[in-house]
Amino acid sequence: MHVPLLDLKAQFASIKDDVMHAVADVFETQQFILGPVVEAFEKECATYIGAPYALGVSSGTDALLLALMALGIGPGDEVITTPYTFFATAGSIARTGARPVFVDIDPDTFNMNPALVERALSSRTKAILPVHLFGQCADMDPILALAASRNIPVIEDAAQAIGARYKGRSAGTMGTIGCFSFFPSKNLGGAGDGGLVTTASPDLFHRMKILRVHGMEPKYYHQLIGGNFRLDALQAAVLRAKLPHLDAWHEMRRRNADFYNRAFAQCPEIVTPSVKPDRYMIYNQYVVRVPRRDAVLSALKAANIGVEIYYPVPLHQQRCFAYLGYSKGAFPEAERAAAETLALPIYPELTDAQKHYVAETLLAAVRSG
Ligand SMILES: *Cc1c(COP(=O)(O)O)cnc(C)c1O
Repeated sequence: MHVPLLDLKAQFASIKDDVMHAVADVFETQQFILGPVVEAFEKECATYIGAPYALGVSSGTDALLLALMALGIGPGDEVITTPYTFFATAGSIARTGARPVFVDIDPDTFNMNPALVERALSSRTKAILPVHLFGQCADMDPILALAASRNIPVIEDAAQAIGARYKGRSAGTMGTIGCFSFFPSKNLGGAGDGGLVTTASPDLFHRMKILRVHGMEPKYYHQLIGGNFRLDALQAAVLRAKLPHLDAWHEMRRRNADFYNRAFAQCPEIVTPSVKPDRYMIYNQYVVRVPRRDAVLSALKAANIGVEIYYPVPLHQQRCFAYLGYSKGAFPEAERAAAETLALPIYPELTDAQKHYVAETLLAAVRSG
């Protein structure tokens, strides 16, 4: 049996007609840049997320960059974030000229440990940037309280967490700006790159809207130095066709996670995802800790199962961030997570036979040690 980490063909088969019609409609209009399809998608996304304003952008990375630029973050500033995330989180901070300041993660959820944020604050801290990793929200209340007490904004990296909730609040609506990605492997994935920013602030919305088009308003008059951060109409059309299915896909991922959790309950050496009771997790990834991780990973690969390490090298240990001066051991929980975890296939369309096969193969690989 073959079980890929992600099978986008299975999902496409179920929605092919809707997607192809939506794409064909855009070709008929020949309006490829912004326009009514992008606007309609932004409205539908704002409603889905529960955010007053939403703006389609070119990628999740550009969503983060745009958020930082709109908040005026740049050289001399510091932004507190986690070292255990996709590169774009800290890469975007560095690209503004600001300094990423890392704090270690909570080993249960792999998210920023809020208890460590306060001592990372300085007079130069201009924002806190938590990530809702794997589809589970970070512990936002203490982070928001700390940020409010210092009057600094919070940017949520919700790239893996569209539709995730924390104490009933939706990812991307708790901080000052929420950033989303429609990279094909996210729970809502486009036919290429795409992203979204959300905010409740009309001022920030307006700034981001003009920064998305080179800071231009009106045409050929530039108020700010922005960039080309636009979402394509073709992407918006595909995403609009997929959005009505998103909640059902979340639920299928959650059922798959329940299946794995039950299967692995008999083996205490496999540490299954710890989801806090006040959170609705959308399982963009299902990540477990296992003993002898690299041997287990090889056994799964040899059995034709798609597995991946998210992420093998924490950001403070990346060569490009050597200038930040962090040494090995600076963030022990991030380093331990990088050494002990692996992600299993969790996509909605997994069959029962595939799930059984993955669970049995992992159990056998762990026990054979
Ligand atoms: C995917 C991702 C991004 C970047 O999104 P792109 O659309 O690939 O640019 C940023 N942060 C996190 C946590 C992500 O998972």
